[in-house]
Amino acid sequence: MEANNLIADLHCHSTASDGTLLPAEVVTRAANNGVDILALTDHDTTAGLEEAYTSAHESDIKLIPGIELSATWQGKLLHIVGLDIDPEHPPLKRGIKILKDMREERAIEMGKRLARAGYHDTYENAQRLAGEGNVTRTHFARHLIEAGVAKDFTDVFKRFLVRGKPGYYRVDWSSMEDAVAWITGAGGVAVVAHPLRYKLTARWLNRVLSAFRDAGGEGIEVVCGRNTPDDNARSALFARKHELLASQGSDFHEPGKWVELGKLGKLPDGLEPVWQRWA
Ligand code: AMP
Ligand code: MN
Ligand code: MN
Ligand code: MN
Repeated sequence: MEANNLIADLHCHSTASDGTLLPAEVVTRAANNGVDILALTDHDTTAGLEEAYTSAHESDIKLIPGIELSATWQGKLLHIVGLDIDPEHPPLKRGIKILKDMREERAIEMGKRLARAGYHDTYENAQRLAGEGNVTRTHFARHLIEAGVAKDFTDVFKRFLVRGKPGYYRVDWSSMEDAVAWITGAGGVAVVAHPLRYKLTARWLNRVLSAFRDAGGEGIEVVCGRNTPDDNARSALFARKHELLASQGSDFHEPGKWVELGKLGKLPDGLEPVWQRWA
């Protein structure tokens, strides 16, 4: 089938990271929303994939094993989505372990800093909310909202969880080159997630994308969750300029928040969809 006639959602989260639905629930929900091709891309973990597979076998949705790796390039934070990876590939597994340890260390530091600012036991609570999954800033945010310290996500991130605020702790994550190598080494396609969300100038974004291509990266998210049609058009320009394959994904985290699974705008013309190969 023609890729353009399929509904692809190649970026979303489950309880393996900071989503609120179990991997099986994400798959079922996507299938109910008419998604044909779904990639589960939890932050720095593939722990949800097995359950997602089991669920995908019960419907006719095609599941692409994915991940969203935290990376940095020249001091800038980047998220690199890996699609169609072999989650058992040893170098990728080692990379995931490194990132998991960094997350844990960061969470402890965030807890200490928040305690100094008068907010106690936030690490323990974030950990509790994360359960078996990777602990993220989203879990700190959920706890601080639950505790009545902040009113919503925008408020809690702005006041506590970004640079210059009491709960922020800088991490260098993996290098962008390592993240791409782990993905491509595991047979996957590396995609720059939500390129407009890093607040980079066009000049910086062009530098990032050149380096990303040199490192073996192949794709860029053109249509993503909270993009306006104008954002999609702008992202498309970067895709064409750097000859990158176009990806799309909702970046779904929980029902009722931001964008629903599979509810995405149309891919601008003149781009090659990354999901063509799975169509
Ligand atoms: P982490 O990878 O632990 O730094 O957490 C990043 C996650 O926090 C992102 O994937 C989003 O889900 C969430 N996040 C970041 N900024 C915001 C924001 N301003 N409002 C709501 N959620 C956010
Ligand atoms: Mn997230
Ligand atoms: Mn992201
Ligand atoms: Mn994401």
